[in-house]
Amino acid sequence: MITWGCQMNVYDSGKMSDVLAPLGYGPAESPADADMVILNTCHIRERATDKVFSELGRLRVIKETRAAEGKQTILAVAGCVAQAEGAFITERAPYVDIVLGPQTYHRLPEMVARAHRAAGPVIETDFPVEQKFDFLPETAPSAERAVTAFLTIQEGCDKFCSFCVVPYTRGAEASRPAAAVIAEAKHLVARGAREITLLGQNVNAYHGAGADGRDWGLARLAYALADIPGLDRIRYTTSHPRDMDDDLIAAHADLPALMPFLHLPVQSGSDRILAAMNRRHTADDYRRLIEKLRTARPDMAFSSDFIVGHPGETAADFEATMQLVRDIGFAQAYSFKYSPRPGTPAAGSPGMVAEPEKDGRLAELQALIRAQQDDFNARTVGLEIPVLVTGAGRHAGQINGRSPYLQAVHMDGPVSLTGQVVPVKVQGLMTNSLTATLINASPTQERASA
Ligand code: SAM
Ligand code: SF4
Repeated sequence: MITWGCQMNVYDSGKMSDVLAPLGYGPAESPADADMVILNTCHIRERATDKVFSELGRLRVIKETRAAEGKQTILAVAGCVAQAEGAFITERAPYVDIVLGPQTYHRLPEMVARAHRAAGPVIETDFPVEQKFDFLPETAPSAERAVTAFLTIQEGCDKFCSFCVVPYTRGAEASRPAAAVIAEAKHLVARGAREITLLGQNVNAYHGAGADGRDWGLARLAYALADIPGLDRIRYTTSHPRDMDDDLIAAHADLPALMPFLHLPVQSGSDRILAAMNRRHTADDYRRLIEKLRTARPDMAFSSDFIVGHPGETAADFEATMQLVRDIGFAQAYSFKYSPRPGTPAAGSPGMVAEPEKDGRLAELQALIRAQQDDFNARTVGLEIPVLVTGAGRHAGQINGRSPYLQAVHMDGPVSLTGQVVPVKVQGLMTNSLTATLINASPTQERASA
């Protein structure tokens, strides 16, 4: 299984492994050892398709070498490039056996059986009427997924931002029923998960059928999940500012398990560009929202996504983005150069920004974000914070963990603490992590001390 892209692809790769396990498939060390290779792809930015074909070229050589040794290798392309390109993949790479879109993973065993019969390539990229989640098995045990786990609760998107392929590759927005989500969360906790990150392309638009017959929003779901004994931490990603309702903000004030760190993409600080992007909120709406969240939970920290060089973006628009970043102060953020995606409205818009201009803006924005991130991390030094121990560190006697703000933390301690939330004192900074010492070895209740 080769996984590219977002956390949802990581989750999907796990689900594909689970669905194939009863057929006898398990993880392979390398493609050369694999009877089947699944390339789980991402289509969010340019050259995604080229990257897939160059990887397929490498896999073809492995497939041919194995064939000369009398071994069959099934090559499958999954994910959003598979959805977007469909049969074009097998036209250009006829040695590919299976092309499957994200909504068809539950049918993978049947596709593998068809591929074994060698009746030509199997291509499944429709959006079936049945919900794949009704057919996917419960998560199989896996060491990597033990302490922290992903759980997809919502998929697809109806927002149609001007630049984005997601509504086309993942389809219309759909939420899983609350009971199914709660059952999967309980299962993950029974397998050792202490932190669950709820996933969705637009996760806070969640509106699943609730146990009481009504539609539940994300806030209601979070309260129900917080009642699961042993589930210490809940996160969710990715959220849209428009769907951040008052109930969800209140849940952040009420639920200690809901981590005080939120990824809330804003994309731009210019109202003109936000309108062109079809984001349906202004920069001041975003500022007010952050203010409300900080009032509800004063130790809340934020992350975001930014696009520089959307068609029509002027130097003044970009300056408005810089100003928004200065006003908010992010703990971290991701930023990208606008990349035209075929079929999206922005790709045909006038006012394309020249590449060197985009490069300059991106460098300027990233320098500001980096400085804010360093500053945020530096302010953690000397504080006592609760850390979820995720396992052994690289050096003898060292253990790793996660802060409430998703910072990696290294400290000396017994590996037997894995899965426990322990109080630590942050001692110093490394490039992308914190060093800390255990305050005492007994687990603690999560608290907002940072
Ligand atoms: N649903 C999320 C939201 O509403 O912001 C994000 C979805 S997308 C998988 C993750 C990020 O990729 C976006 O927030 C955006 O910043 C970036 N992105 C999406 N399309 C892009 C494009 N055409 N060019 C550059 N960046 C893009
Ligand atoms: Fe893409 Fe997010 Fe906009 Fe949906 S809300 S179209 S996933 S950027």
